[in-house]
Amino acid sequence: MQTRCYRCGWSYAIKQDEIIAALQALEAGGGVHYDARCPRCRHINKLSIEMLRRAAPRPVTGKASEEPEAAEGPSSES
Ligand SMILES: [Zn+2]
Repeated sequence: MQTRCYRCGWSYAIKQDEIIAALQALEAGGGVHYDARCPRCRHINKLSIEMLRRAAPRPVTGKASEEPEAAEGPSSES
């Protein structure tokens, strides 16, 4: 996900792995904000758990509405 530093305005990306790890840590610890440090000025920007959930590649908790079915496409495996 892309986020913007509230202090210096620097826009930076947070990796999917980091988002997942942050969500797991927040849910385990009951937190609601993730401290994302700005790579430019080192200011800590608080990202809400809701933002992280939206940016996560797949639902970590809650509804799994977009679960891909196993497609029965033509297989070239032999
Ligand atoms: Zn910054």
